[in-house]
Amino acid sequence: MPETEYTPETVPALNLPAINVPCDACGAKEGAPCTSHSGTRVRKHDVHRARSLARQHADAQAAQTAIV
Ligand SMILES: [Zn+2]
Repeated sequence: MPETEYTPETVPALNLPAINVPCDACGAKEGAPCTSHSGTRVRKHDVHRARSLARQHADAQAAQTAIV
């Protein structure tokens, strides 16, 4: 298996809702896990705090859109 492929089995962080938004902290794209140490190490069990906040912000915007 190529190192660039991740599954929820090997990277539980992929199950987090925050995985659906890009990460400002490490530059991870949507659907990709966060990385540390300049991208050399995958954060398998969590994401950056900034990413969780970004996800919450996206949810808030979606809620606003739904009201309109
Ligand atoms: Zn990140």
